[in-house]
Amino acid sequence: MINMCYIVGLIIKRRKAERPQFGGVNKMNSNYFGVEFDDVNTDDGGHKWSQICKSCVEQSHVPNEMIRDPGSGICGVDGCSNEADYYIDFPDSLEIGFFPDRIMVKNLAHLKRLLADKGQFIFVEHQKVECIGQLRKGNVIQTNGLYSIRPDAMDSKESNWNQGKGSWMDYGKASLWKFKDGICSRYKDTKRSKEDLVFSFFVLPKTN
Ligand SMILES: [Zn+2]
Repeated sequence: MINMCYIVGLIIKRRKAERPQFGGVNKMNSNYFGVEFDDVNTDDGGHKWSQICKSCVEQSHVPNEMIRDPGSGICGVDGCSNEADYYIDFPDSLEIGFFPDRIMVKNLAHLKRLLADKGQFIFVEHQKVECIGQLRKGNVIQTNGLYSIRPDAMDSKESNWNQGKGSWMDYGKASLWKFKDGICSRYKDTKRSKEDLVFSFFVLPKTN
């Protein structure tokens, strides 16, 4: 007797394989916004997209602005074989595309050390939607916060705010932060509810 799981597995494999490969790279895992996607596509305009199921949206830090419904096919999140509920558009500013790794930041003191030591970070959520996907790097480091610039966009307004120091990020108290799975989230108040999120980012491992 043929095992049903085997058949379902075959169907899933076939449906994933039918989609075009991302940027000609044989995708292993593409880490977007702290979520591993194994199925990222590029449309004719060069915009990257995938599809995602409800439960993966709920468990992840994927910004709501990126979600479009309805979506179909198999969820593009690695290890998930649910039917997708939405399409997900990745920001075009996200040139880097792949984040194979990120530092598992433990607490605010750890984060401050990393950023003072030239750590680069990428916003995965931000109240200013245009900041989502931006790569940042500390330029002027203070104990209470830092001015960050965009190393890949030195002409941008973010790199030039505050007389060229960059855009200001205030650390605030440790109780305004949450650190989970390498995602560093800063909230407006200590209740740290989703509505009070100011921004989230993750820190890239040092390359040199
Ligand atoms: Zn899923």
